[in-house]
Amino acid sequence: MDIGVPREIKNNEYRVGMTPGGVKELVRDGHRVLVQCGAGSGIGLLDEDYAAAGAELVPEASDIFARAEMVIKVKEPQPEEYRQLRSGQLLFTYLHLAPDLAQTRGLLKSGCTAIAYETVTDARGGLPLLAPMSEVAGRMAVQAGAHCLEKAQGGRGVLLGGVPGVAPGRVLVLGGGVVGINAARMALGLGADVTILDKSLNRLKELDSLYGPGLKTLYSTTDNIEFELARSDLVIGAVLIPGAAAPRLVTRDMLKLLPQGAVLVDVAIDQGGCFETSHATTHRQPTFEVDGIVHYCVANMPGAVARTSTFALTNATLPFIQALANLGWRQALQQDQHLANGLNVHQGNITCQAVAEAHALDHTPLAQVLARG
Ligand code: NAD
Repeated sequence: MDIGVPREIKNNEYRVGMTPGGVKELVRDGHRVLVQCGAGSGIGLLDEDYAAAGAELVPEASDIFARAEMVIKVKEPQPEEYRQLRSGQLLFTYLHLAPDLAQTRGLLKSGCTAIAYETVTDARGGLPLLAPMSEVAGRMAVQAGAHCLEKAQGGRGVLLGGVPGVAPGRVLVLGGGVVGINAARMALGLGADVTILDKSLNRLKELDSLYGPGLKTLYSTTDNIEFELARSDLVIGAVLIPGAAAPRLVTRDMLKLLPQGAVLVDVAIDQGGCFETSHATTHRQPTFEVDGIVHYCVANMPGAVARTSTFALTNATLPFIQALANLGWRQALQQDQHLANGLNVHQGNITCQAVAEAHALDHTPLAQVLARG
């Protein structure tokens, strides 16, 4: 199969859909991989690395869209990209179609077959192609929070690890899922005093057996949150109710419980945020202050560490890319229901119910599409 990897064109996006290591695997499987010149240069993955791995370097994205049978990306296609997609072509990338009618229409019109990273599932009920970015964001939340706690950043001047004779900083993590557990792990690694809250007792039991007495676990109630806020230097918002807006766990009124200069990192901001006072920020201007509390609410945290994020993402996507390339999309989806759950659009039909509902458009059942042909 001819597989194409264009350079990402969304503003400030340096990630790339495939590393030279991935190219090598696919070439070894007998495929041809077309990589746009400069696709990975922003993160030190050079054209010569791709060429050495067996890729064919092509100068323009239009060459990729014209020649590739399968296009691999990171971000959703931009208008100038989806206008180049065509019938019979396979697209594998993050799509996030539910809030994006223009892109949905663009993909429908193109006639392409589009599989979304974010709706591929796994046997444990997780989202394996979203999890790597949650791991990155969770770990980064502590790094960002520690920086914001510095006096010069508006923080209260606390070093999370403390020093001999001075108690460590206190970190409260709201939500013990992928983001939360990675945040807790980093905070514990720095030597901070860490408490994690979740609504799921099973999750709390897992966290307890993983980390033992070093990590304090608490059931998530308003009472417990209020009690913990009063003693926290850094609060990390990491809750998720799938398919819904993030629950508002900390109201504006509750901010007065926090010490002045405390820091809130709202990782859940991409779902609206779990602090009432949150609004989305960018890497260029990541923080703002409300009532003396520093808020960090960057909606695309993994973008700041694009090199790590690229490797984390492509480790997870490569087996699916290999299945799609080796078996063809239909057989690959027939053999793997979890990959099939990623199919969002096929030949002008929406196959993902949530996307169809979001836009009040017709839905074609997956089984119907897979049975054809
Ligand atoms: P997850 O499903 O793995 O974990 C969410 C956890 O929240 C679950 O354990 C759930 O039980 C818990 N929860 C739900 N309601 C709760 C409540 N009221 N109190 C306490 N816990 C509660 O999700 P995740 O992968 O960890 O993602 C968390 C959030 O981070 C999501 O909104 C995700 O989109 C977001 N995220 C943001 C970025 C970014 O750059 N800002 C990057 C990756 C992920």
